[in-house]
Amino acid sequence: MQLPSAEIDGYVPFSDERATRYIEDGSWNEQAFHEVLDERAERHPDQTAVVGPDRELSYAQLVETSKRIAAFYQHETDLERLDRVVFQLPNSVEFLEMFFACSRLGVIPVMLLPRHRESEARHVVELTDAKAYITTGDRYDLGFDYVDFVTEFADEYSTLEQLVAVAGAQQELPANWSGFDEIRTAYEPGDLSPVDVNPSDPGVMLLSGGTTGLPKGIPRTHNDYVFQWEQMAAAVDVQEDWTAFPSVPIGHNASLCCVIGSAIWAGATIAVEPVLKPDRLLELIEDVGGTYSLPVPTQLVDILEHPDRDSYDLSSLEVLISGGQKVPPRVVYELVEEYEIGFCNIFGMAEGPLICTRPNDDVDTQANTVGRPIAPDEDEIKIVSEDRQSTVDQGQQGELTVRGPGYFTGYFRTPEENAENFDDDGWFYTEDLLSIDDDGNYRVHGRIKETIIRGGENIYAPDLEDVIIEHEAIENVAVIGMPDERLGERPVAFVELRDRGDDLTLEALQSYLSDRGIAVFKRPERLEIVDDLPRTSVGKIAKVDLEERIIEQLKNEGQLSDEY
Ligand code: AMP
Repeated sequence: MQLPSAEIDGYVPFSDERATRYIEDGSWNEQAFHEVLDERAERHPDQTAVVGPDRELSYAQLVETSKRIAAFYQHETDLERLDRVVFQLPNSVEFLEMFFACSRLGVIPVMLLPRHRESEARHVVELTDAKAYITTGDRYDLGFDYVDFVTEFADEYSTLEQLVAVAGAQQELPANWSGFDEIRTAYEPGDLSPVDVNPSDPGVMLLSGGTTGLPKGIPRTHNDYVFQWEQMAAAVDVQEDWTAFPSVPIGHNASLCCVIGSAIWAGATIAVEPVLKPDRLLELIEDVGGTYSLPVPTQLVDILEHPDRDSYDLSSLEVLISGGQKVPPRVVYELVEEYEIGFCNIFGMAEGPLICTRPNDDVDTQANTVGRPIAPDEDEIKIVSEDRQSTVDQGQQGELTVRGPGYFTGYFRTPEENAENFDDDGWFYTEDLLSIDDDGNYRVHGRIKETIIRGGENIYAPDLEDVIIEHEAIENVAVIGMPDERLGERPVAFVELRDRGDDLTLEALQSYLSDRGIAVFKRPERLEIVDDLPRTSVGKIAKVDLEERIIEQLKNEGQLSDEY
């Protein structure tokens, strides 16, 4: 048994007592990420592990190339166990090769996303004292020059010793960069001396969603993350002959745990498409016979509204998982009916909580709830009152609070945040409002901060959005609170219309909500029609941007004092 080593400054490890318990009760199987891969490769070496646009690797080959890369690092660099390496890679074969190479060395990959830019990149390099930065060269055209981008600031960080780019054959890299192909081919798998990787140590650092401020580091140990791979594979019932395809960036937990992790656990195939546009994803499903994925709700809407949807053969789809923000129920009904798929409506956080409906649940449950925790026996969950002093009654809303073998133990080097969100017994307070129905299914009512408080009355923005999105002229909506000197806040609706030529007035929206029985105080008091709602790096609606926008507008209109 290897207990947490707690060697990294600013990392909060699992207590020995909890780690021992999880190992003894079998929740943790004491395998590092690459050990899970190696085991699957022994079981079926020739099965395709990953297929990309121009490369494909069997399980045996993925083991081999990840060993070659690890050998390069061992022989050519100072990279050591528990060092951090920033990944900024698209969904690609190379991501998986690098990911498992890091695991073999006990090195921690940090999951910057392709859409992150300078402020996030600098912050993450600084926060983690990253020793290397791995990004894409011109092998993948993401419409942005990552090599140039990183070169601009890399010099300023003395810890950053190595820069790597997944370059095309013709690309000339700046002098201090290495090309990925060189790293992958310079050594033989046998050149790697095995490293004693402790599965109770962090194996990956995810980043928080970043809907507010700069992302926080979320270290996940091999043990707690693999536990969730296993539970997720069981919840979705992933089969060995399935093909998983991540629809959101691969470094986001929605892809890395729910799609990649569950697929590796099941020994299935992973298909990767670097450009995450609806057409490309639809083509991918058809080309590789994609079986399951986790797109965010807006991507599902894009698929349903795609003008050529019927020209794609999507019959291989077995299960769609979606969440990250509330999934409009009508989207679930339409998808389940049209494609006869299982639907896992999921509440998920990179910090650990994963609660989802199962493919065999009835469609009403899938459309209106987020089902049950993925590990009902091991996850410790309570729904607590606003003052965090007691649990609420069954059916009542409260703050989701968690502890268990599949959850993180604290943000990296962020003690103030940890003091605010953890108690002395290790419970994590999520700031999300959920309730549990009599039949055990959970419902999401929004972030505590997404609750608009209008003159003392609570309005849960996501509940209101569910009703508004059913309006025939509306494609997408976000409701936020706008500051009001008298009432504190008042709801404002930002909408994307289905047809840009359409018109919608505030009065028409209010009367529609009145017909739907929505209380007067909940009805938006202002309507903003926009071409496109702003998005976060993973495609969720960026409500913070909308909040900034409305404050600016109110000030310009003289409705809010400049000091606000
Ligand atoms: P992330 O850090 O990107 O994993 O985002 C996690 C947050 O997304 C959660 O704390 C929730 O606020 C939100 N979220 C996740 N799933 C859902 C869902 N099904 N419905 C509503 N909000 C969700």
